[in-house]
Amino acid sequence: MRPILPGSTGSDGRPATLGVLGGGQLGRMFVHAAQSMGYLTAVLDPDPVSPAGRVAHFHVQTGYLDEQGLAQLMQRCAAITTEFENVPARALVTLGAHRPVAPGAQAVATCQDRAEEKGHFMRCGVPCAPHAVVAEAGDLGRVAPGLLPGILKTAQLGYDGKGQVSVPSADDLAAAWEALGRQRCVLEKRLPLAYEFSVIVARAADGQVVHLPPQQNLHRDGILAVTRVPAPNLSAGDARLAIEQATKLADSMEYVGVLCVEFFVLADGSLVANEMAPRPHNSGHYSIDACDVSQFELQVRTTAGLPLVQPRQHSAAVMLNLLGDLWFAADGGAEVTPDWAGVLALPGVHLHLYGKASARRGRKMGHLTVTAPDAAEAERVARQAAAVLGLPAF
Ligand code: ADP
Ligand code: MG
Repeated sequence: MRPILPGSTGSDGRPATLGVLGGGQLGRMFVHAAQSMGYLTAVLDPDPVSPAGRVAHFHVQTGYLDEQGLAQLMQRCAAITTEFENVPARALVTLGAHRPVAPGAQAVATCQDRAEEKGHFMRCGVPCAPHAVVAEAGDLGRVAPGLLPGILKTAQLGYDGKGQVSVPSADDLAAAWEALGRQRCVLEKRLPLAYEFSVIVARAADGQVVHLPPQQNLHRDGILAVTRVPAPNLSAGDARLAIEQATKLADSMEYVGVLCVEFFVLADGSLVANEMAPRPHNSGHYSIDACDVSQFELQVRTTAGLPLVQPRQHSAAVMLNLLGDLWFAADGGAEVTPDWAGVLALPGVHLHLYGKASARRGRKMGHLTVTAPDAAEAERVARQAAAVLGLPAF
């Protein structure tokens, strides 16, 4: 692909425009990165006040499969990316017929379906949880007893722990499948986790791959709460292995763009791939403030066909997610503004708010990243920040 250079003018005389399908916080941070490099930006999202739509130069306000909307986006944009895992792969097929689209529809479709995704892990020789597909009632009786206790997950459209039901024993499986609406699901064996981490790689159209340092992740109620980089428990050998595996997963899909692979480390020390996201990832937000090239700049570069360079982490980082719960007093009363002045008085605190119209419990409203010369200092300040905001201790 010929690079789309920032500031270059197209046949319409306008500076080059990069487009993103989806208007959430990931799209917003992509838009910020693209704009800082001199691109115009366009967002397609049905929400009139989407976080990315509010900051892009152009907002095409239609559904993801609206033909006129997709045509408008193509007409505006020299290249297009996506930020939303559940953007219908069909929309990417339509766009991809006329413009460079990264990542491609096929790779996104693989990552959108837990059964396909696990199939890809196995084809690449990357260990994943023992599992079975439950697509119809007849499959319930065929599940191997060794998969229990397990977790039943919808094959598609799950996120932040949604679309999952714990299945303690074989007797609970039918009820769990009912509870998920009898749709195609994957039953996974519940594994004894020591901790979780993730790796972000970016792959260019010519096959070059770069990575961010792996990040260790702590979840609360199925939602990412804290990310630490460097990952305190991860050995250098396991970090290398995970980067190799993520690279293999990207290569064999001929992936173009930013790909995040989530891993479990089990009690016996072995690595297991959990899932992939075909886009920047919440656990990579620290890279905005702690690396010389962020995951969003990597997305801009892969979308526009610009060169990739290996990012360098210049500061230790701890990232804290800011959920809507923070906006509500403990007694459940009126909305309050969290004590931003209190946290910004601490050294190395970078506040990112996504501009969402209203706070809801469990909704990702923003994050803050604490950067410091070393991990111990980042940890110390992050704990102080959590205490100021009234976040649970970690
Ligand atoms: P989501 O798409 O919601 O992120 P995940 O499959 O990543 O779904 O599951 C969310 C969290 O649930 C994981 O980060 C992990 O903490 C836990 N989890 C998921 N699968 C398993 C498993 N097989 N064994 C143990 N814990 C699991
Ligand atoms: Mg996950």
